[in-house]
Amino acid sequence: MKLGRHAFATDPGRKRRQNEDAFVVRPPLFAIADGMGGARAGEIASALAAGALDESGTQSGGEDRVKELVQEANRRVHERASNDPATSGMGTTMTVALVEPSGDITFGHVGDSRAYVLRGDTLEQLTDDHSLVAELVRRGELSASDAEVHPQRSVITRALGTDPDVDVDAFTIHPEPGDIYLLCSDGLSDMVAGEAIEQVLLANRSDLDGTAKALVRAANRGGGDDNITAVLFEIVADDAPLPPEPDERTREYATSPDEEDTLHPEDGVPAITTMPSAVDTMVVPASEVEAALAEQEPEVPQAGTREAGIGRRLLALLVIVALVALIVVLVWWGLAR
Ligand code: MG
Repeated sequence: MKLGRHAFATDPGRKRRQNEDAFVVRPPLFAIADGMGGARAGEIASALAAGALDESGTQSGGEDRVKELVQEANRRVHERASNDPATSGMGTTMTVALVEPSGDITFGHVGDSRAYVLRGDTLEQLTDDHSLVAELVRRGELSASDAEVHPQRSVITRALGTDPDVDVDAFTIHPEPGDIYLLCSDGLSDMVAGEAIEQVLLANRSDLDGTAKALVRAANRGGGDDNITAVLFEIVADDAPLPPEPDERTREYATSPDEEDTLHPEDGVPAITTMPSAVDTMVVPASEVEAALAEQEPEVPQAGTREAGIGRRLLALLVIVALVALIVVLVWWGLAR
């Protein structure tokens, strides 16, 4: 088994000016990063994480190596966020796939970007979302269909950059010839249901570039609420002809604005199942999610947005100033007696 064709497409979507998604296409290494944070911080976070991976030039290594790569990316984002107040609180998801010389694929994953495989005629999600709604579904407290439309579905419980260390999911897949792997940001998976993604992949199997573009068009047609990125690669039999020379690019825009809006007839998708709008992605620390879940409350803890972080810091500063003033007054009063 070996790596066959690969393709990618990214698009800001219909509602956002900036594209805070970043990706790495450096065969046999593929990755996606979906940044979050105020101003342009999300863009910086995802670019730093993707850059760290891109620079590594990794060709093989297994689960431990992939975990290391993601942890190194985390350190870079966290260091910048700690030293540059303009980027404080920024973070990014990261989903990595490394096609090993053996043909096995090692995945590393943090956040709510996703990896899927199309095997035969069936699309299967390989990654678990590190999100509040996914946690509720795993606990049997929310149905999968309710999760898809849940107003808090953009709340993620794990991200790169928010802490000095990050817990990385790593796993290995033994592929079959003909498998097509998809890495995507939530701008695709929130806008286009899994069955519709499956239809697009099945209908465009012979043209991987066309598939990537068709996925972006489908997400824009579904509302395009968020940045959309899709990275695709296929695994072929050892004796399959070699794919054309790989082009190594990061953050390349593969769609032009005039093709965003229309779903081409050849996409083969008569009706895309779309989802209602999602709120902005925010990170809520796992501990707070645990606490909220323990209370069995459907309410989500109010925390984790950059704005909320600044508010808390301002409040803490005011409390400290008030305490210092009180101490000064007490000392002065003590001396005056
Ligand atoms: Mg996103």
